[in-house]
Order: sequence, then structure tokens, then C-alpha cells
Amino acid sequence: MKAAVKPANGKVEIMDVPIPTPGPDDVVIKMSMCTVCGSDMHFVDEFANEMLSFAFPGPHVLPQGLLMGHEGVGTIHEAGSNVKSLKPGDRVLASCLVGCGKCHECMTVDHSVCSGGGRVLFGCQAEYYLVPFAEVNVAKVPDSVSDEHAILISDILSTGFGAIERANAGFGDSVAVFAQGPVGLCATAGARARGCGLIIAVDAVPERLEMSKKFGANVVINAKEEDPVQKIMSLTDGKGVDVAVEAVGTQATFEACTRAVRRGGTVSSVGVYGLTPQISMPTLAPSFLHRQIITTLCPSGRDRMEHLIDLVANGNVNLEPLFTHRMKLDEVPAAYDLFRSKQGGVLKIAITP
Ligand SMILES: [Zn+2]
Ligand SMILES: [Zn+2]
Repeated sequence: MKAAVKPANGKVEIMDVPIPTPGPDDVVIKMSMCTVCGSDMHFVDEFANEMLSFAFPGPHVLPQGLLMGHEGVGTIHEAGSNVKSLKPGDRVLASCLVGCGKCHECMTVDHSVCSGGGRVLFGCQAEYYLVPFAEVNVAKVPDSVSDEHAILISDILSTGFGAIERANAGFGDSVAVFAQGPVGLCATAGARARGCGLIIAVDAVPERLEMSKKFGANVVINAKEEDPVQKIMSLTDGKGVDVAVEAVGTQATFEACTRAVRRGGTVSSVGVYGLTPQISMPTLAPSFLHRQIITTLCPSGRDRMEHLIDLVANGNVNLEPLFTHRMKLDEVPAAYDLFRSKQGGVLKIAITP
């Protein structure tokens, strides 16, 4: 089969590799659509394959390199002998973080922080991909949910909404979302879905700010034209927002969040900092006193996916405008270049076999 493989740092190639075979608890999915994600850029550019195979042991690391891609949708091709609730032909998606379903973290926290063999799902950018612990990580997708929405549910919709939920932003609260890339836009949409009172979107790319208005932002701030923290203070009578979401993973935006949040408020960090070894915060800002800092990995697992599927299937959110480009699996290397460049208004790329 054709699959996107990372043979060395900074490189992605389409290679011919064997179709995976499922173990007793696994399924193999025939991909119908996949995409590239900000995390893929970190995996390709920053992390050596050896480091990733050590961190996430499993069949996704081939002798040729790392199988790429963790956001996909498709139909069950083959199910392992212990998998009872899924059968060949079922249309399904899997969480981008797969948990064992049995460890303390899976049972009491979230599948995303599994300590029982869970990991990032790799290999969706291929004709077929393997999902471990299928009963707890794979959800059936009804016809009313498009492939595009299914892909978003597998990662960034869950991640962006998670940043809002875990910060407890609700009816009437003020929220600022720093960076309106795909995850930030999902956080903006999540703030709207949860009934927040004032939703402020910050970015430096005009197309992304335009999109944020469609997804529910009440006010947009172009960080190239004005100081976002000052503007947020003037919009909130000098108090700051209840919740500031960091959705890109830089020191500058994290720090801005800590300055933009009101006393007692919450900084919700969901951006991926990659190999940034440390972030810091100002202790002399008024908002340093009595506040929370929350970090979130994509909330995962079948039950989470099913909840988000209901949200989309019944038309309560529509994030399909995130898909700005369409490409074929053969073009995955070009998709990485396009996504990394942030050119041409790119947000999400729908990739089909
Ligand atoms: Zn992702
Ligand atoms: Zn687990």
C-alpha cells in the first residue's frame, strides 16, 4: 500500500509498505480521508525517529522510518479476534491519542494520558492504518457526519473544545483565544457553543481572523497592528478575561495569556510547544495572583468521540469551512510544505486516496 513515511528528520515521502495486520485487540481501517496537522510538523521537523519509536513503541515505526498521520476516517478493513463491536465495512474514526481503556488514567482521567501502552496514533496518511485497543478508541460514524467533520473530531475539534471545557468557560464568560490556526478556531467555536459572553480572537493573519468571526468571535485583534493585551484590557474595563486560551505553543503567546487573564481567571494552554524546553510567566503582572493554569491534551476515547459526533450530527456546530484545500495521498509531501508555509489561506487539507 501507499503510505507517508518519515525516513529522516525534515522529510516525508510516499513509500510502498505492507498493509498492517491487526493483533487480537486491533483493527485495520481502510482510509477514506486524512489530513496533516500542526503536530505532524513537530514530529517531522524536530523529533528523531529513534526518539519517537522509544516514546511510542509499536508497529508504526518501520525499518524505512515513521508512519505519519494521526487524523483519519475510513471503514473497517479487518478486525482482531477480540474486537466484538466493530466489523468489516463499518464507517469509523479513531481518537488521535489511543488509550488502553484499563489503566488508572484511562479509567479516571482521560485516554489521552494513558499509562498502559497508549500513544499517539500514527499511520493515517496511508491507504490502510492500524488502531490498537480498538474497542475503546474507535467510534462508528453515522452518514450524517461528513468525512471532514469526522477527521476534525479525531483531534482538533476535541482539543480546541477541550481547552474551553477544562477552563470551565461557560455562559457569559469572557474568553480570548490567542492564535486562530485550526485548533484556535476550534476553541473559538467551542467558546461560542458553550455560550460565552465575549469571545476575542487574536492572530496576525487576516484570513484567519475573518474565519474566526464565522466561528463565533465577537471581536478580532490583529496582533501585528495592535497590542492584544492592551486591547483586551480596554475591552474588559481593565480587568482581563475570565479565560485566555493559548493555541499555538510559543513563549510570547503563553505570556500574553498570563497578562490578559483577570484575577482568579484561567490560562488554558493547548498549543504544542514542540522542543521548547521551558516557558515562563511574569510574576509582577496583577493577574499573577490567584489564578489557574490548565494544560490539555486532546480528550480521547470512544465515548468522547461519540459525544462530539452527536454535536456535529445534529448540526450544533459546523466546522467544515476549516477545509481550505483538497489533495491526493500522493501529494502528502506537498501538503506538509503547504501547511508549514501557512500560505494560500491554508487551514485544513482534505487528503483522499
Ligand atoms: Zn493533530
Ligand atoms: Zn490506559
